[in-house]
Amino acid sequence: MFWGGKLKLQEYQSKRIFARYGVPIPEGGVATTPQEAREIAERLGKPVVVKAQVLVGGRGKAGGIKLAETPEEAETIAAQILDMDIRGLPVRSVLVEEAADIASEIYLGVVIDRAAKGLVMMASLEGGVEIEEVARRTPEKIVKAPIDPFLGLQDYQVREVAYGIGLGGDLMRGFVKVARGLYIAFMECDASLAEINPLVVTGGRTLLAVDAKMLLDDNALFRHPELAEMRNLEEETPAEREARGHGISYVQLDGTIGCMVNGAGLAMATMDLTKLYGGSPANFLDIGGGAKAERVAAALRLILSDENVKAVLINIFGGITRCDEVAKGILTALEEVETDVPMIARLVGTNEEEGRAILAEAKMITATTLEEAAQKAVAAASAYNEWT
Ligand code: GDP
Ligand code: MN
Repeated sequence: MFWGGKLKLQEYQSKRIFARYGVPIPEGGVATTPQEAREIAERLGKPVVVKAQVLVGGRGKAGGIKLAETPEEAETIAAQILDMDIRGLPVRSVLVEEAADIASEIYLGVVIDRAAKGLVMMASLEGGVEIEEVARRTPEKIVKAPIDPFLGLQDYQVREVAYGIGLGGDLMRGFVKVARGLYIAFMECDASLAEINPLVVTGGRTLLAVDAKMLLDDNALFRHPELAEMRNLEEETPAEREARGHGISYVQLDGTIGCMVNGAGLAMATMDLTKLYGGSPANFLDIGGGAKAERVAAALRLILSDENVKAVLINIFGGITRCDEVAKGILTALEEVETDVPMIARLVGTNEEEGRAILAEAKMITATTLEEAAQKAVAAASAYNEWT
């Protein structure tokens, strides 16, 4: 099983969830047309901010967030933003909400800290900036509270976090409410990230979640059918959607070497070695344990449907997965898809001899070690590049 799987929610979806847990959010609505944006602005009757809903950060810098004084202006700006691509993602909807009166910006997040083997609440007075950047440049500005899995987030911890970022006095009650709400939202939704960046201190000294981000654990979605429905299908590439249908973990990347591997760890190692030898992976792909020929064929079809792929590296460690099944799947796929893309196969483990015998029919470069396979794939990809 691939345990990096997660469902990314849009800002407006994350905000709605946080609001259910008592986090104050600006009033507003989602629009897919400039007219709708205008109507929302009219209803709000005050200056608004129009925000691109795409699943990447840094929308502000990319021009995807703009203030509008009037409904007419909101309409014009929404038209511009709905026409944009932000980091390659087309903007299909905008969030129109009352503009916040920002005195200062805070970062507040509940994240999984793998090193601490648990959840951590993190906060920083450097809000609005990506937390990774704060962590790199001024780590002392981040305050962390490790959360005990049995005790949960304690109020004293929240107060420590608040004092740690210089938030006391009149803002304390509000902060405790936001922090607890964020933590409970994380827990009840089986999230892997819940983040408010920025959490704003307004001119009137109240707190307001101006941005929201939530990642949900794919493997827990069966417990949350209403959250599973929030999946932003339009954000998935057709290939990623197809992969999900076949039970394959697939993430498209922009390199030239297509990888088919069983096991997430082995897939990572395969990608690392491909990089080490000067190549670049076209995808992450885990066919999972015990894959049958049909799933292998689907995986290979997926890889070959990516035009950037100049070589395919098949790296299978047969345990529960049988190498002969994998080999059969490869032949099935090759019968359907005509291709001259070079393929490198490394099949070791259960039924490897049978697997190799089946593949002898196919034109396939073979390798016994992962290093050898990666090197051959990199060489084949660059040769294919020059050749085409
Ligand atoms: P991101 O760039 O994708 O992280 O989008 P954010 O929602 O975090 O917005 C980026 C920045 O735009 C914030 O840090 C704020 O400085 C600014 N911003 C967002 N909404 C408002 C608003 O309602 N009023 C004002 N004045 N600034 C805003
Ligand atoms: Mn933000």
